[in-house]
Amino acid sequence: TLAPFAPAPSTRHMRSMSRARVLVLNSALGPLDYRVPHGMSVMPGSVVVAPLGPRQLLGVVWEPERMPSDAEVGDNRLRNLVGVAPVPPLAAPLRRLIEWTADYYLASPAAVVRMALSSTSALEGSKTITEYRATGEVPARLTPQREQALEKIGSFQGLIRELAALGEVSDAVIRGLVKVGALEAVEVDIDSPFPAPDPDFAAPALSPDQRAASATLVADVTARAFAPTLLDGVTGSGKTEVYFEAVAAAIRENRQCLVLLPEIALTEPFLKRFAARFGVQPVAWHSGLRQSQRRRAWRGIASGQALVTVGARSALFLPYANLGLIVVDEAHETSFKQEEGVHYHARDVAVMRGKFEEIPVILASATPAIETRQQVALGRYAEVKLPGRWGAAEMPAIEAIDLIAEPPERGRWIAPRLVKAMEATLERREQSLLFLNRRGYAPLTLCRTCGHRFQCPNCTAWMVEHRLVRRLACHHCGHTEPVPKICPECHNEDTLAAVGPGVERIADEVTELFPTAKIAVVTSDTMWSPAKAAEFVARMEAHDIDIVVGTQLVTKGYHFPNLTLVGVIDADLGLDGGDLRASERTFQQICQVAGRAGRGAKPGHVYIQTHSPDAAVMKALVSGDTEAFYSAETEHRREANAPPFGRFAGIVVSSEDQQAALETARLIGRAAPQLEAMEVYGPAPAPLAMLRGRHRFRLLIHAKRGLAVQDVVRDWLGGLDWPSKVRVVVDVDPYSF
Ligand code: ADP
Ligand code: ZN
Repeated sequence: TLAPFAPAPSTRHMRSMSRARVLVLNSALGPLDYRVPHGMSVMPGSVVVAPLGPRQLLGVVWEPERMPSDAEVGDNRLRNLVGVAPVPPLAAPLRRLIEWTADYYLASPAAVVRMALSSTSALEGSKTITEYRATGEVPARLTPQREQALEKIGSFQGLIRELAALGEVSDAVIRGLVKVGALEAVEVDIDSPFPAPDPDFAAPALSPDQRAASATLVADVTARAFAPTLLDGVTGSGKTEVYFEAVAAAIRENRQCLVLLPEIALTEPFLKRFAARFGVQPVAWHSGLRQSQRRRAWRGIASGQALVTVGARSALFLPYANLGLIVVDEAHETSFKQEEGVHYHARDVAVMRGKFEEIPVILASATPAIETRQQVALGRYAEVKLPGRWGAAEMPAIEAIDLIAEPPERGRWIAPRLVKAMEATLERREQSLLFLNRRGYAPLTLCRTCGHRFQCPNCTAWMVEHRLVRRLACHHCGHTEPVPKICPECHNEDTLAAVGPGVERIADEVTELFPTAKIAVVTSDTMWSPAKAAEFVARMEAHDIDIVVGTQLVTKGYHFPNLTLVGVIDADLGLDGGDLRASERTFQQICQVAGRAGRGAKPGHVYIQTHSPDAAVMKALVSGDTEAFYSAETEHRREANAPPFGRFAGIVVSSEDQQAALETARLIGRAAPQLEAMEVYGPAPAPLAMLRGRHRFRLLIHAKRGLAVQDVVRDWLGGLDWPSKVRVVVDVDPYSF
């Protein structure tokens, strides 16, 4: 339920509207028309409260000519708007971005607007929020439940709801704890300003290459025009320092900056690094924020007071009052592609936002996507290069280990040459990193007696054994169960066998090899919050860790000068599956993880374990001939008419009812328009044929570049009907193809 807002005072400059078209949030309906009551003033972009049936919902006023409505209603049948939210109207460039995103990704505009408003509660008029925290006084007779909740809450401060979640109890228990004096209320000022970053706080002396690169980026910021630029520099070349100069330039002009990071775990180290350069931390925006932090950030961003925001992809749609620069760091990362709700690619939307806002956009990467390099080749994006590492650091030496010629010992996964290198690294008191992109102990568990394999009941996926928590887990839906003692099929005891390695198994092997070494496993299971990431960084810096065993989480962005050895346990892992992007992805991932080695004064070594040392991607990694790899890969794409030359779109049809999903998929397949510029494959079972209990079928559209796929799909699906238990989702420019 929403508190009614006070009507905004009317302003002379506002176009007076008596009728308003409103995109109502949380509604499946299209835009709706309302009457603007006497004394209320709205304009396009105004955030309003609109009645819908018995409910009152937030919405945003839109230009009627830009948002056609299928339900034109006569003036006399219009309902009155209830109020206007006391927040600035969404500005025109953001409205254009919302329209573009909805149009391009075939999403409902309301779903995109929701991302701009983030949480509707961000709009309440109040300037404070009541949070609760422990008083430190524990009453004498607490129920065990209350006592445990209090323990879990610790020193955390937050809303009743947040404390209840943390303490794993109901809201009522939390209120009870307040009543007995174990918790107290704290008023948090959500309008308190963010401290201003100081562009001259600790500016580094740049190398000549860095100076040249930053001069170009700074000129773009002061020119105040749309200017997309690829900042292409090898790992450790100082890309961050260089784009920080552009950030400094924007701050000097009192304009806002947005830095997008691919991973929430990278936020914490980034905040620290930013503070070292600019004196204060920027505003963080990600899913881990508390409600009060979220509201304060939203208000600071919308008022223009918060100058620098660092965040995950969702920060892209926030209503910056005065945006001057967008940076997408590690721009090649797959996590910029959102695969739920609105299926968008944050890298591409960032460029579009830059276009509408008329500001520069920097895409920073050591391993840019083929698509991005093609934009450079076509002259649409500028390119700024940093060819060498900063300071004394050299690029690491990379060697392949042929697993057929030099196999690991029986039952082991680390080849002798890599073991030796780890030994030498330990002796030099330096740090090592072993990379394997597989969580858990083993990717497959089976019964040695009858061959039974453990499969997720909800997904087409094997259950993965996690020894640290003694459970089998599905990595797709999160379903877990205890590791059984008895095979459910043949009822034999203790016959379960782990097949293949996961990081936990590699960590076991490392412990056996180096019993006195300090070992850390870093995956989303162990590093699931920014605080955990900060802890990991601190332990690495204090050399409280000798050997890290990790998944792709450790390949990104980190800078540990004492880390000199990287071992890639299974470089072939990403190559199976027949995906056209597999080589590119493997190349990027291994370059990135190799790039963690030797970033300081000490030289780095990288060993890549592979069964196919002659594959083009392995050869390119060893020789360091990036250009040769990219041009060969680009040629493959051209021949296959794959992106960036041709394009793909997926239509995924899913339902708990397999037959219904299949029938709808066939119906859609039969209705496919016959076009010379487009081919439709399928329906076929989707790559994950069952996910979270839903059966999935996919049609894949392969189109020539010039075809407006969105228009085709809109017309095609627009004429069809399917049962409500069937969901149809279009994925434009899918990541895998
Ligand atoms: P990249 O993002 O290209 O991998 P970073 O920006 O993380 O590289 O830089 C690598 C390391 O070198 C960081 O510790 C950074 O602080 C340091 N560095 C880069 N350029 C400079 C400079 N001009 N002065 C001081 N330190 C620098
Ligand atoms: Zn599952």
